Amino acid sequence: MIKADMHVHSKYSHESNMELEQITELFLEKGIHYVGIADSVDLERENIEDVIERFQIRNAKIDQLNEKYEGKITLLKSAEIGEPYLYQEEIKRLDELDFDYTVGVIRPFSGGDKVKLTTGERTTKEYYQKILKMIEAGNVDVIRHLDLIDAYFGKDYSALKQISEVMHALNDSHQSLEISPFIRKKTIEFYPSIQKLCFYRLKCEDARVIIGSDTHRPEELPKNLDDIEYACTEIGLVPGIYQKRKFERI
Ligand SMILES: [Zn+2]
Repeated sequence: MIKADMHVHSKYSHESNMELEQITELFLEKGIHYVGIADSVDLERENIEDVIERFQIRNAKIDQLNEKYEGKITLLKSAEIGEPYLYQEEIKRLDELDFDYTVGVIRPFSGGDKVKLTTGERTTKEYYQKILKMIEAGNVDVIRHLDLIDAYFGKDYSALKQISEVMHALNDSHQSLEISPFIRKKTIEFYPSIQKLCFYRLKCEDARVIIGSDTHRPEELPKNLDDIEYACTEIGLVPGIYQKRKFERI
């Protein structure tokens, strides 16, 4: 399988200091062929003009590096956008930039339309309702995570109906699901969980996924991408990358 990590942050995200060239070298060393640079966009806090300027500068730098490393490794242009269904107009403007794909996320810890992260049925249902709104808005290519409540508080099956609605919505949409490693309590897992990925496979004719580590620092470089690839094959998921807003199977 062609190796890809479709979710890495660079210094063009507030929470990372990694230079694009450093990322390129680190992933080249790991034998990765495609690296998706998914820098964060927080439209609750940032002005759209500033976001556009930041990404224009970054995308030009990515073009230069792709030329320099041609035939060895390719950087893909992405953005991770919080609560994208709230920002239809802003995202139309971002779509004018030459992104390869965009990733949507519901962030329980920050963002305008916060899900308060507490245990309990209501929070879980609220979280999946927001995921559903994000899929139905259809203005990003990839749906991230799907499992934040479980990741922090353990399994919660109370929202099975909402999760089922999410799977049906994904089947009707053009979007893909992201699978990400998540390191907690010394165990290495990945999210969405195997159960949810099997559910996704059952409900979606074309169960497309991208694999992304959400790396912010060199020490966070993914260690279990092979395990995720193995799970994809066994479950029958369709892993891929995006180039110029088109999904390509890998
Ligand atoms: Zn991220």
